[in-house]
Amino acid sequence: MDKEKIIVIDFGGQYNQLVARRVRECHVYCEIYSYKTDLEKIKEMAPRGIILTGGPNSVYEKNAASCSEELFHLGIPVLGLCYGAQLMMHLLGGSVCKAPVREYGRIEVTVDQSSLLFGDVSEKTICWMSHNDYIEKAAPGFRTIAQTADCPVAAAECVEQNLYAIQFHPEVLHTTEGKKMLHNFVYDVCHCSGDWKMDAFVENTIQEIREKVGSGKVLCALSGGVDSSVAAVLLAKAVGDQLTCVFVDHGLLRKDEGDQVEAVFGPEGPYNLKFIRVNAQERFYSKLAGVEEPERKRKIIGEEFIRVFEEEAKKIGTVDFLVQGTIYPDVVESGLGGESAVIKSHHNVGGLPDYVDFKEIIEPLRNLFKDEVRKAGLELGIPDYLVYRQPFPGPGLGIRIIGEVTAEKVKIVQEADAIYREEIANAGLDRSIGQYFAALTNMRSVGVMGDERTYDYAVALRAVNTIDFMTAEAAEIPWEVLGKVANRIVNEVKHVNRVFYDCTGKPPATIEFE
Ligand code: GLN
Repeated sequence: MDKEKIIVIDFGGQYNQLVARRVRECHVYCEIYSYKTDLEKIKEMAPRGIILTGGPNSVYEKNAASCSEELFHLGIPVLGLCYGAQLMMHLLGGSVCKAPVREYGRIEVTVDQSSLLFGDVSEKTICWMSHNDYIEKAAPGFRTIAQTADCPVAAAECVEQNLYAIQFHPEVLHTTEGKKMLHNFVYDVCHCSGDWKMDAFVENTIQEIREKVGSGKVLCALSGGVDSSVAAVLLAKAVGDQLTCVFVDHGLLRKDEGDQVEAVFGPEGPYNLKFIRVNAQERFYSKLAGVEEPERKRKIIGEEFIRVFEEEAKKIGTVDFLVQGTIYPDVVESGLGGESAVIKSHHNVGGLPDYVDFKEIIEPLRNLFKDEVRKAGLELGIPDYLVYRQPFPGPGLGIRIIGEVTAEKVKIVQEADAIYREEIANAGLDRSIGQYFAALTNMRSVGVMGDERTYDYAVALRAVNTIDFMTAEAAEIPWEVLGKVANRIVNEVKHVNRVFYDCTGKPPATIEFE
């Protein structure tokens, strides 16, 4: 497959995900790899261009993250961003040292418009800076193409070798013309044609699935969430009745969700899938009894899922493939993508436990960000209300109940969450907030109801805005709406006497609680 792509080499910078996104927004496929990736592997991938990200180290320190100098002599265009720019200069004979003045935030940069990188960019432009070190002197053969009051080399180029270095961060939206700069790199320096488009992705993926599956039987793990729904429809279009969708109701779904999923994907729904609903509530509850630790809960739920599928698969006969709705941020958060630490294990990230007798796992959305999955969904003709459904984690309410999960707690959080969602919709905010849900804290406190002392649970309300689910900020929900929700929850949901609103962003918090 000769799809054109740009690769991002990750030096541990905060914005590495954004770099990949911006390139994809230019319609060029982009993947992230660790700086430790073998040079041979990079050569094999034959990328059209390489982008080096920012990073927390200083290039002149011992053990600083680095790469082979050869990377710059492969004949592949390289763009270094911040740390990546410093590293390029350092390895090629320039000098990098601690800056007399560190720059942080929006800074005016003067650029040389004759550089390919800055074609169509204003001469004075606002850029996002975040560095303590600076390029004191560019490497031999490089020409300075941008500067600021405090930064003599804010960008440099060596046109003959297609090497470009930028001290600031074009991937961040605060850099007003950053998209243009990345676009210039991708098209004018790397000469990409821009073949990464959703319709092409959908078409190619369907084709690839057909080739891979042949006449094999496919089993899809349907959760009713956006990812697995899109994956299921993709598979249904590719292999039709070779596909069986198994929907496990693990008793950790939102209120009434099981029935809603059945209404859409079941025999009454618009898709012609083989649909099996397994009511496995009790089974999951008993496995989870007494377990408090979040990672263990995730593992138990994930494993139990696999077992249930396995049992269903046996009933169906031989099954060759298992489909999962893994998306790109799952892969990265599990520590399989670039340099990011393992934040949470995702039960739906590939790697086949040996007791499962499927030939292979198919993860058609593995390379997509959430908003790209939605675009693919629309492209496939999946109705809006499903495509824009809120994301819901595989382990479901199991990780929205802090501490031990019990049937009673599930009921509490389901009811509270349903009220919250209803009021958000009543206030007309359901499309404008990225994700919102209720969680059950493990805290009980004293309250008073009908003149009687209560000692009951506290519900936490979460609402975040995010574009790509890698970072998020708490949504500002009007006080009246929150007040109404809190009021209804304590009145209508038994065993809740307190409601909190979570104001933290991601980072430092995650969107889910566990
Ligand atoms: N650590 C380097 C510096 O402080 C690079 C920072 C970055 O990549 N954002 O200059």
